[in-house]
Amino acid sequence: MRDELITFLQQSLGPNGVLSNANDTERYCLDWAGARGAEPLAVARPASVDDVADVMRYCHQHDIPVVPQGGGSGLVEGALPDRHTPELVLSLERLNRIRALDAINFTISVDAGCVLQEVKDAALAEDCFFPLALGAQGSCQIGGNISTNAGGLNVLRYGMTRQLVLGLEVVLPDGRILSDMRPLHKNNTGYDLKQLFIGAEGTLGIVTGAVLKLCPQPANSRVALIGCPDVRAVMQLYGLARRSCCDLLTAFELIPRRCIELALEAAPTLRDPLDEPHPVYVLLEVAASGELDLDAMIETLFSQGMERQLLGDGVLASSEAQAAQLWQFREAMLEGQQRRGVHLRTDIALPISALDTFHHQAERLVAELSPDAEVIAYGHVGDGNLHFNVLPPTGLDDDDKLALLHDIEEQLFELVTEFDGSISAEHGIGRIKQSAFLASLSAPEYDIMRGLKRLLDPRGNLSAGRILPRSDGR
Ligand SMILES: Cc1cc2nc3c(=O)[nH]c(=O)nc-3n(C[C@H](O)[C@H](O)[C@H](O)COP(=O)(O)OP(=O)(O)OC[C@H]3O[C@@H](n4cnc5c(N)ncnc54)[C@H](O)[C@@H]3O)c2cc1C
Repeated sequence: MRDELITFLQQSLGPNGVLSNANDTERYCLDWAGARGAEPLAVARPASVDDVADVMRYCHQHDIPVVPQGGGSGLVEGALPDRHTPELVLSLERLNRIRALDAINFTISVDAGCVLQEVKDAALAEDCFFPLALGAQGSCQIGGNISTNAGGLNVLRYGMTRQLVLGLEVVLPDGRILSDMRPLHKNNTGYDLKQLFIGAEGTLGIVTGAVLKLCPQPANSRVALIGCPDVRAVMQLYGLARRSCCDLLTAFELIPRRCIELALEAAPTLRDPLDEPHPVYVLLEVAASGELDLDAMIETLFSQGMERQLLGDGVLASSEAQAAQLWQFREAMLEGQQRRGVHLRTDIALPISALDTFHHQAERLVAELSPDAEVIAYGHVGDGNLHFNVLPPTGLDDDDKLALLHDIEEQLFELVTEFDGSISAEHGIGRIKQSAFLASLSAPEYDIMRGLKRLLDPRGNLSAGRILPRSDGR
């Protein structure tokens, strides 16, 4: 079956369209976090939508499992080839054309394999702005962003990826093409089918193209880093900032002191941003497309925050370079965390008003389970999104670390449920959050999801075992 598949792929996609040698397929088996998948049947690299359709039709007819792959920056192992059943990896990397940009309509039509940064650059070249922004934007693809409904740094102002998709083109598991690439800002006709595929993590179809919403390029923006006494003060400052910044707040990030230290370790050119260390920091950005006095806006916020004892000190970037350097803390701290090896990584969502109490209780929970474990809780708290991460004690071996982190995660997710939260604000379910996700579903929710999967992928060959358990026979 594998030999026939490879012959078919060579014939239909050409010599650059298929990789079958283990050395060549190696990089498709690894993700950013260092997780490894099994060796795939092969890697198909179609360069057109029709090629994707041909591959899917062949796989449907020959009952061959397929997993789509974008930039490989997903954090729940959804794009890695399965260890249970050999899969064909379908990489979208060669499907990477900007199809059209309409600066009056504020839309851009792109192939799914376009790297996010390239879409942002293409928008900027026409004085437009594509607001999706995240640490992996130099490698993640639009198809991956859509399939994970990515969030990122600007959700507060512009929404998740779902809010930025106006049209979608999808190849279904049997090879049919479902296309609605109309660049419409409003369309209220019948069921909005594209929504099914946004955030579906590749389990219902292969996203091949999208019409994305653009915004005016913010001509004017300011970034500030503020030191605060605790998370309670941060959340009160958030309320103040929302009200006093004329709805121009684009980012409001919580950064604990430990993350600043991790960033300083990872990027030695960075310097401690404020004269004195503070228990927690806020990195905020305001942006406007017209000329407004953003400095005055932030200075008012500083003085109001000081008056209410919500902040101790702060720095307002005075140049683009300084603003970029403040943002660098946000990037470098991820790198620093990654260097610490095995750790618990979460991306929970909570009602914003509950975040402080949750944070407090969750810290206590971890301390009771392991007094020497280190909590690193940061995130896009303006969206109620907390990365409540835990570094295990260094003295443990890897197996003990994993067992401890598993216990912590289980209890943490129970607490999330008690707070009416969600176990995933951004990264999705993939394989690694499946059991917690299934436990959170009601019977009607499960039945509808299972029914949709059966309807669109009756053979269960597409991304089997991600989000939902594999169906019979797979
Ligand atoms: C440093 C770093 C920072 C990050 N920051 C954020 C953040 O702030 N917010 C956030 O939401 N995420 C974040 N992420 C997670 C990740 O970047 C996003 O999930 C991103 O959207 C994944 O895109 P990708 O192209 O890399 O997808 P991949 O990792 O290749 O795939 C992700 C999932 O989508 C499926 N898929 C990929 N392409 C397609 C397609 N064309 N059609 C159908 N299914 C497809 C895959 O099968 C897989 O299930 C971050 C990751 C890293 C490494």
